[in-house]
Amino acid sequence: MRTRFAPSPTGFLHIGGLRTALFTWILAKQQKGIFILRIEDTDQARSMPGAVENILETLHWAGLSPDEGVVLDRGVPAEKGGKGPYFQSERLDLYKKHAEELIEKGHAYRCFCTPQRLEQMRLKQQALKQAPMYDRHCLDLAPEEVAAKLKEEAPSVIRLRVPRERTILFDDAVRGEVSFKGHTIDDQVLLKSDGFPTYHLANVVDDHHMGIDLVLRGEEWLSSTPKHILLFEAFGWLPPQYAHVPLLLNKDKSKLSKRQGDAAAEDYIKKGYLKEALLNFLALLGWNPGTEQEIFSLEELVEQFSLERIQKGGAVFDVEKLDWLQGQWMRKMDPKDFAKRIQPIVGEKYPAAQKDKDFGKKAALVQERILFFSEAAHLMHFFYETPHVTLDVLANEKQKVTKDKLPTLLEEDRKILEGISDKKWTAETLLAAFKERAGKGDLKLGQLLWPLRASLTGLPYSPGAVEVAEILGKEETLKRLEKAKKIV
Ligand code: GLU
Repeated sequence: MRTRFAPSPTGFLHIGGLRTALFTWILAKQQKGIFILRIEDTDQARSMPGAVENILETLHWAGLSPDEGVVLDRGVPAEKGGKGPYFQSERLDLYKKHAEELIEKGHAYRCFCTPQRLEQMRLKQQALKQAPMYDRHCLDLAPEEVAAKLKEEAPSVIRLRVPRERTILFDDAVRGEVSFKGHTIDDQVLLKSDGFPTYHLANVVDDHHMGIDLVLRGEEWLSSTPKHILLFEAFGWLPPQYAHVPLLLNKDKSKLSKRQGDAAAEDYIKKGYLKEALLNFLALLGWNPGTEQEIFSLEELVEQFSLERIQKGGAVFDVEKLDWLQGQWMRKMDPKDFAKRIQPIVGEKYPAAQKDKDFGKKAALVQERILFFSEAAHLMHFFYETPHVTLDVLANEKQKVTKDKLPTLLEEDRKILEGISDKKWTAETLLAAFKERAGKGDLKLGQLLWPLRASLTGLPYSPGAVEVAEILGKEETLKRLEKAKKIV
């Protein structure tokens, strides 16, 4: 099984492109096949410097590096494999040869229409409310006429001769049988006057010569596919299996476009999404396992993914779902790896964290509560400096911790804590003592723990009171409690 991802290097890799790459990669891996990266850079005016590097680096980050084609070699784009070159701009002779072959076979023709004539034709069609389509002005030029114009060096393009009377049918792995009427298909330009192929010609020639078995791409290419099928037929080649995956939509069902921002895969990497979360999220955009399972590792996707379970309708890009998955994957991380990842981040702000031998224990307390690594310094600051505590953080209406009750509650906390010796100072014994006090009935556990937690961390949302107290130790815990008592 040979699959390919064939982006045009016109900008940063789009998040939908990453989904296409993911599905395409999975389909190759399921059959121990080859995942190829081909760069479709025939539109030179739209090619952007750095785009190829960005595509490769993003794929590498995601663990979806190509096996063949354009690959990263020690950080630099290089070509690998026997069916190259894999940059279309390096294959111009091949496209030209094949375009001419189509003329000989009668499946294509040369067109000398000037841009002015084409513009006039377009305006006329517009006025008549007709679909814009080439009027075949050059279809029946006599061979001598063509030869004479070529001799004059009149600029020309090569167009596909679409059999207008036919219906073009193909089987799409997602959409089933798809059909297009020939008369709705334009005589597509295949080779431009500057000798560059259009997307259609280059795409078909390469999918054939690169031995591609399966083409998975976004639904926006569906209407191009009958042209591709006609080209495969005209050359006498077998087309690959096509699979057109649904568009990505915003919550308001509009198309997720580059202009709406946040559509570059890179933005998600920069924001701090884990690759596991992002890939899990992308996999569920258009595919569903048919079970309740929502968390998928890449290995599980390789096991379970199938084209049959891809939906036809658009897939809504729900960032809340992404964040939920991010939280799930954060929690699943090996605690040691988690600590390793955040230690430099916290250490940058609080150098003491750098050499802190208890760092792992502290990190474990925030792992449950973190969405992005970048939040770690804020969530752990109270381990490395005395927190700034305010009345607003100490009080909490929902927990029945009103401001007027704070002096009593903090004093109760102090009494409980004083009663526990240094030796027995663990989260469990502390919790047991608080529970025992709450057992008397006049105060709830939450009323005792909330102000203690807030005194120790200064945060409205943080690891729990007794866990933090255990790490801070008895002396520091009581010191912070005293400080809080002074402001209530
Ligand atoms: N170059 C096209 C793109 O940018 C490739 C589409 C296809 O896979 O055929 O998406």
